[in-house]
Amino acid sequence: MSRGIQDSANSDESSVKRLCEQLLDQQPQAQVLLERLLSRPAGRKEGNAFAAIRMGRCSACHLNVAAVRLQQAKSGEFINCASCARFLYFETR
Ligand SMILES: [Zn+2]
Repeated sequence: MSRGIQDSANSDESSVKRLCEQLLDQQPQAQVLLERLLSRPAGRKEGNAFAAIRMGRCSACHLNVAAVRLQQAKSGEFINCASCARFLYFETR
């Protein structure tokens, strides 16, 4: 009954690649931090360098994102989570 859950790990991987490109296009200086985050042991299929902002929180560690930074993210900028250091992006869905 509970079968049928689709694991979309592969498409997540390509979306991480796209996020990397967007980030470096926007903030070339972020490369060092990005590489550091990507080299952390992988525990999540979304990758451990990026997390979407959901309900105003980091979807990885659930820390509230400050309103000012939320605005930045909404305008398409990547921001860093103050707690887990992931690059946060606003999910447009
Ligand atoms: Zn976080």
